[in-house]
Amino acid sequence: MELEKQLNDTLGKPIAEASNEELYHACLTLVKKKAEEIPMTAGDKKLYYISAEFLIGRQLGKNLINLGIYKEVDELLKKNGKSLSAVEEEEPEPSLGNGGLGRLAACFLDSIATLNLAGDGIGLRYHFGLFRQEFVNRRQHEVPDTWLGEPCILRKTDVTFPVSFGNRTVTSRMYDLDVLGYKTGHNTLHLFDIDTVDESIVHDGIEFDKKAIEKNLTLFLYPDDSDKDGQLLRIYQQYFMVSSAAQLILKEQKALGHDLHHLADYVAIQINDTHPSMVIPELVRLLIQEGMPFREAAEIVSDVCAYTNHTILAEALEKWPLDYLSAVVPQLMPIIGGLDWGVICAYNNNPDLNIIDNQNRVHMARMDMHYGHSVNGVAALHTEILKHKELRPFYNIYPEKFNNKTNGITFRRWLYHCNPELTSLLDELIYDDWKADADCLQNLMQYYNDENVLHRLDEIKHHNKEKFAAFVKRTEGVEIDPDSIFDIQVKRMHEYKRQQMNALYVIYEYQRIKNGQTPARPITVIFGGKAAPAYIMAKDIIHLILCLQELVNNDPEVSPYMKVVMLQNYNIAKAEVTIPAADLSEQISLASKEASGTGNMKFMLNGAVTIGTNDGANVEIRDLVGRENIYTFGRSSDEVIHLYDTNGYHAIDFYNRSESIRHCIDFITGPEMLKIGDKELLTAVSDNLKNKDWFMTLLDLESYCAAKETAIYDYSNREKWTRMMLVNTAKSGFFSSDRTIAEYNRDIWHLK
Ligand SMILES: *Cc1c(COP(=O)(O)O)cnc(C)c1O
Repeated sequence: MELEKQLNDTLGKPIAEASNEELYHACLTLVKKKAEEIPMTAGDKKLYYISAEFLIGRQLGKNLINLGIYKEVDELLKKNGKSLSAVEEEEPEPSLGNGGLGRLAACFLDSIATLNLAGDGIGLRYHFGLFRQEFVNRRQHEVPDTWLGEPCILRKTDVTFPVSFGNRTVTSRMYDLDVLGYKTGHNTLHLFDIDTVDESIVHDGIEFDKKAIEKNLTLFLYPDDSDKDGQLLRIYQQYFMVSSAAQLILKEQKALGHDLHHLADYVAIQINDTHPSMVIPELVRLLIQEGMPFREAAEIVSDVCAYTNHTILAEALEKWPLDYLSAVVPQLMPIIGGLDWGVICAYNNNPDLNIIDNQNRVHMARMDMHYGHSVNGVAALHTEILKHKELRPFYNIYPEKFNNKTNGITFRRWLYHCNPELTSLLDELIYDDWKADADCLQNLMQYYNDENVLHRLDEIKHHNKEKFAAFVKRTEGVEIDPDSIFDIQVKRMHEYKRQQMNALYVIYEYQRIKNGQTPARPITVIFGGKAAPAYIMAKDIIHLILCLQELVNNDPEVSPYMKVVMLQNYNIAKAEVTIPAADLSEQISLASKEASGTGNMKFMLNGAVTIGTNDGANVEIRDLVGRENIYTFGRSSDEVIHLYDTNGYHAIDFYNRSESIRHCIDFITGPEMLKIGDKELLTAVSDNLKNKDWFMTLLDLESYCAAKETAIYDYSNREKWTRMMLVNTAKSGFFSSDRTIAEYNRDIWHLK
């Protein structure tokens, strides 16, 4: 009743008469009021989680859940003929991230607050985010993702800092977002921007003048850096972020009266990948300005900072040319030089360890490893590869710094919010303790032989598939059958993730159906994901998939047995309808290349069975569910690493040796496809697969197709399959980000 009155008062009219937009505004006001009543988390020490990305998703539903009033508001709106999920759709999804790394940061903020730890996020307020993806002529087209409307979830503050670049000084302004934990905890996400950004300079999709720093600084996340101006802009952005962060941190600590000589007793900084790495020299610089000697400043900063590595792909380990840094941030050069000198002296001028290499490039990750006290990988296998392969020279000198923190996801969003029916069933069977203590999901195992429970799991999955099918019809205009197997690969487009292998499977299956070998069960192959605007091959693979969609869905001989859909503009909102509907979760990266993955965890939690390589956190999923509840295939990471070391993989040999592989590759540029697609793009894909195939698609293709055939066959055994679903949900507690954050705190941050 209390709530109803509050909403009515804010609306100035009865709920039943309000539009969804008005209801959204009223709910925002409600959340704001409730948030004000929750005291900020406090402690002797505070964490600052600095990240270029926070892929936070829509906030309303999540906030209502964490405030403990989601059900109440839901029922209240229902009673008045309204729907909370329709109201939630009024909120534009914040475009502040790109993929797994940004989503991880968002899940971490949720868990940090939920564990009642004092920890704020710091990032940038991008006006247009990464970009919004549209398909035009079966190609990706990028347009600005306009999400900053009125009202906005971000609160403009009066907090400003001067940020100096060599040739100009800008004023950063802080915008705040409340981060509410589940039933407890209240932190803040601070996002910095400048007032002079000019959205009107963007034209022709996402083109803009890369030199107009005052106008373009925070327009986009990851602006194209395939040319010099783009790289300079990235350096401008990164320094802007970390200088604002460092100034905020020192301002807060001074306000608390803390002695900067003991900063490490009061502050922990987590550097999420290398984008925020310049916070190290920047903090050193500011401490020197406070009167501290260089050496002491460097030591304090080392005790404060910790680095998370997210990838072993070489192109993602940032190295900036020294003269670019000199041009943008000349004030950091003596500091970076001094830090490098320390390394040169300590380790005998070893070129594998120096921060500045002999081509005058600054290795950001090396700076983090030398001048941070912790280096962590994001899954057990990933950390082992870092220690013994990619970062081996650093592990040799700093074994005590290396540690693993297997990624996690917040179950409040990835089960409670996105899968209400499964949530109710769990509440009924094992009570709602799992929302705060994910290990309780194990209790579901007692229903392993309970036919009734298995049947209900099956029913819930079917409902979710019906909802998803309706969503796909509405948003993509494609009709799919909820009785078919939903086989889903949604994630950023990248060759190492091997969407192209899944596309080759589609071709393989298409040819078999054409030959009269129909699958044991109809299958719907679903893709979704953005390609980086400058990543031509990833875009060509999108073209291949969209051509296959056209071909397969319109072939009356094939479409009763197989359909293909590529979702446009995959984001958190789409993930939340897609994942609960999945039967099969595609996690097929080349072993050793996917650091962890978190999509794999979301699918598992929602009762999908994984088909995957022994890569990233898939390995830990396999260990938890047992080999009989996952479909693994393909070469091991050791074998793959050996092939790279010995240049032992030649795609063309696989092409020549296997008739079935040849048929699949040749099909890409065959007459059926050329009728639909662009010859140049399709040829680029097939040539690449034959002659380069850096991520070894053809190496695993046959074992992949075989594994998928087994899965499709097993799916018809409903008892077996629903049991696998139950085991996957029951064993997923380990992947709660609450567990991950508890480990970060225990081993790295030491808050409370
Ligand atoms: C979880 C998530 C990702 C990461 O997916 P991976 O399969 O781990 O690469 C990317 N994008 C969105 C929208 C997500 O929710």
